[in-house]
Amino acid sequence: MREEEEIDLLLIHGTVVTMDAEQRVLMEGAVAIRAGAIVAVGPSAELAARYPDAPTHDCAGCAIIPGLINGHAHVPMSLLRGLVADQQLDVWLFGYMFPVESTFVTPEFVRTGTQLSCAEMIRGGTTTFVDMYYFEEEVARAADEAGMRAICGQTVMRLPTPDAASYDEGLERSRRFIEQWHGHPRIVPTIAPHAPYTCTDTIYREAAALCRQYGLPMTTHLSETAREVQESRAERDATPFGYAARVGAFDVPCIAAHGVHATEDDMILMREHGVGVVPCPTSNLKLASGIAPFRRFLEAGVRTGLGTDGPASNDDQDMLTEI
Ligand SMILES: [Zn+2]
Repeated sequence: MREEEEIDLLLIHGTVVTMDAEQRVLMEGAVAIRAGAIVAVGPSAELAARYPDAPTHDCAGCAIIPGLINGHAHVPMSLLRGLVADQQLDVWLFGYMFPVESTFVTPEFVRTGTQLSCAEMIRGGTTTFVDMYYFEEEVARAADEAGMRAICGQTVMRLPTPDAASYDEGLERSRRFIEQWHGHPRIVPTIAPHAPYTCTDTIYREAAALCRQYGLPMTTHLSETAREVQESRAERDATPFGYAARVGAFDVPCIAAHGVHATEDDMILMREHGVGVVPCPTSNLKLASGIAPFRRFLEAGVRTGLGTDGPASNDDQDMLTEI
């Protein structure tokens, strides 16, 4: 047998969802894998004939799909799953999560929580996630060890956090983290200003400068609740999206979590700046934030993804549930 005809594994008798240009679905399909890469996709009979000696895995009754992307998560929070229910975002966040995190979140907590989440996500078909948390180098390490791809955002805000007493310290920490992990083949280290209501103009501007310097995407929360939008209009004379544009967050590639209460003008801003918006349907319902205008995002030509948010506001990290 010629060397190019040898493969490591043949997935056979599955429903192959190719996501190719023609969106083909092969009802009795197979996928040939060599050295971790897909080398052939086609009907089972054809590939079985081409690779008669290959180790095979029978996928009858299963779908073979590309890895799912969880566009917004706080993966270490698997250790805070089920902590509090039936509270809206502001009470949940300021009354429960921030105080609990300031007491319990350590590098070990982050490492263990991430390991658990990686196992859960892989089991559910997710291969890539976008994260935002503290001690983000531990998220990066655990994701790398699990063989996953991740954009890891080190959280920065004006309030003290479990890993930084001030935002200056948080910015410095983010720079060190980025320098350490920059250039990794699967892990993209970056900075994540938490949200306009927990940050300052300076934090967003410095975060954007850091992203520009290293060619990185920024990730942040925008327009999660109606109240956030109301207060933003009153305090900053702009919607959270308008404010983010004003302080430079959209001068770099930006992944905006939620956008539940995004306006039509916000969608124009997003499209013009190539901002990606990531509603998190389960979390948005659990925290009574609302339902994002997902269809409008698509119609308006906005880059749109989906995320689970942290497992403390979702209870699981199953992307198929979100879809
Ligand atoms: Zn979030």
